[in-house]
Amino acid sequence: MLAAPPEAELLGIRNRKVDSVPHAPLTKRKRHRTATETATAAPTPPVTPPPALQASVLVLNRLYMAVHVVTARRAFVLLYRELAEVIHLEDGVFANYSFEGWIETGALRHHAAGPHDDWVRTVNFTIQVPRVIRLVDYDRMPRQKLNLNRRNILARDQHTCQYCGHHFPAHQLSVDHVFPRSRGGPTTWDNVVCACLECNIRKGGRTPKEAGMHLHRHPERPRRNPTLLMKLANPKYASWRTWLDGAHCESGE
Ligand SMILES: [Zn+2]
Repeated sequence: MLAAPPEAELLGIRNRKVDSVPHAPLTKRKRHRTATETATAAPTPPVTPPPALQASVLVLNRLYMAVHVVTARRAFVLLYRELAEVIHLEDGVFANYSFEGWIETGALRHHAAGPHDDWVRTVNFTIQVPRVIRLVDYDRMPRQKLNLNRRNILARDQHTCQYCGHHFPAHQLSVDHVFPRSRGGPTTWDNVVCACLECNIRKGGRTPKEAGMHLHRHPERPRRNPTLLMKLANPKYASWRTWLDGAHCESGE
């Protein structure tokens, strides 16, 4: 992938303002704006929480193939350095914007802002967090490897304990080896499942059969990136579907 540009470079000029997004509620900031700032600022966005910079942005290569997911903060760095452009869905058609163009047209889009849009307020302007960007000089193909890690296992099992069937937040879930690791069970897609702490402790170093427990679903390698699939369930990222419905993002076998 691209070498990570120093974010300070972006944040030092235009993005210093992006970085200065207050952690205090926006309403508080609004009260302290001067008349000059009010005159030059774009219309007040519906919401401007700092977490907007942590929203996910789908990255396409030059050939419009999905290759990566980055945070909005990282996406702004790529846009500012002109390594990427915004791909934005408008009336069913995708339009391309340079970073400058994206800022300039922000006020217009703001008037039709949807409930799932994210906006970041800076001192002098308001910018919408793009959902998709395209690397203008990056030709490489999507990475086919699907990492076997905790995040992807939880996403594959949809944060549901595979023994009791209940849904849990990530911090209350563990990764269980169906055939115990202590007895040589491998760490492979078909031998690990998401389990709540209680079920994991109850099962201990036993097989499900020995523990009298039943798997809700036989674990297997997901055909598609489960973390991306979970994102698609969020209406915020509905526009990603266009780029993920192709074969590009399927995990390699
Ligand atoms: Zn459980």
